[in-house]
Amino acid sequence: MVDRQLRQRGIRDEHLLAAMEQVPRHEFVSRERWSDAYADHPVGIPEQQTTSQPYIIAAMLQAAQIKPQDRVLEIGAGSGYQTAVLSVLARQVIAMERYASLADAACDTLERLGYGNVKVVTGDGSLGYPESAPYDAIIVSAAAPRVPPALADQLAPGGRMVLPVGDAHQQVLQLVSRDEQGGISVQTLEGCRFVPLIGEQGFKT
Ligand code: SAH
Repeated sequence: MVDRQLRQRGIRDEHLLAAMEQVPRHEFVSRERWSDAYADHPVGIPEQQTTSQPYIIAAMLQAAQIKPQDRVLEIGAGSGYQTAVLSVLARQVIAMERYASLADAACDTLERLGYGNVKVVTGDGSLGYPESAPYDAIIVSAAAPRVPPALADQLAPGGRMVLPVGDAHQQVLQLVSRDEQGGISVQTLEGCRFVPLIGEQGFKT
């Protein structure tokens, strides 16, 4: 997976490649999906959601330039797979998930595998988690109609947020950066397709 899907497509961050080499992705999907766990596409998880294609996870995390001292907010924990990769890369991870059933399962898996610097919170991640803000990086794993202002507000000076922005069918990855003076800039990366971010500053149900 790491050589064929990530290195060959231009993922160069060696810390990230090492983290994705070491996290056992099959542990985050059901046993019936084990044969697909390392495949080059999203894999179904309960509640009609998916764990994203490994390449797109790598592209997002590379763009966010996660550093060992960073505090990271992840929106859309899903299976907890990306949470585990973030746990290896960063100092602390807060992962939000809208479905309590997914949040509980992700929390159990992360605990069983020993990823200790992680807190999984059930709630509407389109509003972020102001209790622990600001964050050095925010990764949103569900598609938003626009950059949620609440999330931009929770970025620390020098912070980076990566998120898919578009309609329900297709999106582009955007990198939102806050400079040391507090200014915000937005850069468009590549096309992608995510499940929708459902919430107050996402899509309405
Ligand atoms: N990175 C995850 C991807 C999960 S898919 C993984 O590797 O498994 C996206 C997730 O976002 C889904 O589980 C969905 O329930 C969740 N989601 C959608 N809207 C949300 C919101 N407003 N707050 C938190 N989670 C949300």
